Amino acid sequence: MEIKVISVMGAGQMGNGIAHVAALAGFKVYMRDIADEFVNKGMETIKKNMARQVKKGVITQEQMDAALERIIPTTNLEEALKEADFVIEAIIENPNAKKELFKEASKICKKDTIFASNTSSISITEMAAVTDRPEKFIGMHFFNPVPVMKLVEIIKGAQTSEETYNITKELAEKMGKDTVTVNEAPGFAVNRVLLPFLLEAIFAVQEGVATIEDMDKAIKLGLNHPMGPFTLMDFIGNDTILYIADYMFEEFKDPKYKAPVLLRKMVRAGYLGRKTGKGWYDYS
Ligand code: NAD
Repeated sequence: MEIKVISVMGAGQMGNGIAHVAALAGFKVYMRDIADEFVNKGMETIKKNMARQVKKGVITQEQMDAALERIIPTTNLEEALKEADFVIEAIIENPNAKKELFKEASKICKKDTIFASNTSSISITEMAAVTDRPEKFIGMHFFNPVPVMKLVEIIKGAQTSEETYNITKELAEKMGKDTVTVNEAPGFAVNRVLLPFLLEAIFAVQEGVATIEDMDKAIKLGLNHPMGPFTLMDFIGNDTILYIADYMFEEFKDPKYKAPVLLRKMVRAGYLGRKTGKGWYDYS
């Protein structure tokens, strides 16, 4: 089966990044969000990020113009899905919202359309079960910022077919990504390791071990990471981190995934990170 049309659900940080790389790879792309303001903001981000790539010589102006022509921004679910060969879901990290969306997609999409979720933690098998095509359901976990980060984790659910896996791997490679294969488990491979690390950094600050700035400096210079944990959390979004932590704690019942009170407080205050202008650092 040849993939020509990709439908990206969600125009947020991840959705617009996925639409960006898919359009540059030559696919016709629908990018759908629930309100015009989110779709417009997503398109603005794509334009800004592509312009930066042109300036750096990563792509040409002609490639940028052609890629933008290939993206169709919309709030209309039916328009976004009816032509799609491959759906990549990147809406909020909420199992019920995602399941609702996939139920609708089962009704609208062609019978052979493949469904992929960019979830950071939620069970692929659980989402697949609400659709009419669990063998055509897979996890495709991109990293933030999508145009820059090379990795895609490909997650096989209990019923994912080898054909679906092969098509997805090939698609990720066409988008310029490198892949790893993961058998479904909460947090997959990267977040399983990342979450205890990030949460421990917050506990350390909460206990007064070091300041946020010094924790970041310690990890950057001491472990040779490109950025410290607090800078990274501001990129990812504290709401997303909290959601993943709560989900993993629920699944494993292991205290290493227990979210610190300070993280919950940050989310309740709306200090989500770069996307809201304030997180562990102030971006205003
Ligand atoms: P975000 O808050 O930036 O964007 C989510 C978007 O989804 C919003 O624009 C919202 O309006 C939209 N939305 C909500 N319900 C919708 C619906 N029913 N249909 C279409 N759009 C809807 O969040 P994000 O960081 O882009 O995360 C999206 C997904 O990607 C989550 O599942 C998250 O766990 C996952 N993810 C995030 C990261 C990261 O670093 N932020 C990395 C990998 C995966």
